[in-house]
Formats: sequence, C-alpha cells, structure tokens
Amino acid sequence: MRCPYCGGLDTQVKDSRPSDDSSAIRRRRICPDCGGRFTTFERVQLRELIVVKRSGRKVPFDRDKLQRSVETALRKRPVEAERIERLVSGITRRLESTGEAEVTSEAIGEAVMEGLKGLDDVAYVRFASVYKNFREARDFEELLGHLAAGAAQAATPEDGPAPDEALPARRPRTRAS
Ligand SMILES: [Zn+2]
Repeated sequence: MRCPYCGGLDTQVKDSRPSDDSSAIRRRRICPDCGGRFTTFERVQLRELIVVKRSGRKVPFDRDKLQRSVETALRKRPVEAERIERLVSGITRRLESTGEAEVTSEAIGEAVMEGLKGLDDVAYVRFASVYKNFREARDFEELLGHLAAGAAQAATPEDGPAPDEALPARRPRTRAS
C-alpha cells in the first residue's frame, strides 16, 4: 500500500482488527520512510457496479468517492467515524444487492439523502443543497429555516412540515445569480 504522504511503497501493517460491525478489517499502517501513519479498510465487494450518470456516461462505482461526499456533508458535525463507515457500507450493500449491474447516480444521491436524514439534519441539508443543485444561498437558508421550524414543533408534528416536505422544488437554472 502506497504511503499517502510521501508516496513510499514500503509501508508496514502495525495493527489489524475488525471494525465494530465486523464488515471490514481495519489496518493501521506506518511508513518507514516518512513516519506517516494511516488506516486502510479491507471489505467484501459483492459485485462490480456500474454507475450511469445523468449525462449517460458510465463509470465504475467508486466507494471511496461515495465516502468522500458523505464525509464532506458531515464535516465538523458530531458524528463518529464508525457511524459514517456504517452508513457508507449500508448504502453500498443496498446498491450492490439490487440485482442490477447498473445503478443511476440519482439513485445513489437519493440513498445518501435518505441515510443522512436519519443521521444529521445539517449534513442532510448540505448534501441536498449540492445534490439538488441549489443555485442560490437563499434556497439553502430557506431549507435550514424549514428544518429548524420542524424541529421546534416536534412536540406537535402534525403542525410542522416534515423535513422532506420542506424541500423546495428545483428551481429553473436560468435564474440570475
Ligand atoms: Zn511515507
């Protein structure tokens, strides 16, 4: 495994143990060239998935890319790495077990939104704002406002909009920004 810091190829495994849910093996590695430490995960890959993008272009499913976008949405949020790992694994397993060789990027986006909604409201809004292509900060603020209102009225849920109902419809891309 190449060292992510210096590019050295001679990294050594210091420690190997299963992740909390035993779906992966976690290895702590150290690079003798630069002293850098990093972690790798070894996981079962059930099948090769192809992602069909909106443009129609097809690319291999990339779990790391999925993980990066989930982590970006959760940046600085109080969510443990292990929970993020479980969320990404859950989404990946669901996608792999549809029985289809191809999955649309839209289906992946929906699955991520679904997962984040249960995990962290702010991350959910962040992801939705990128995924739904909100052009203006106002859309984002509006959505946050709806979520806050929904949380405040949690005692009387029938009065408050559910977070998913609070999502504004996608706006035309021609609006001036
Ligand atoms: Zn190194």
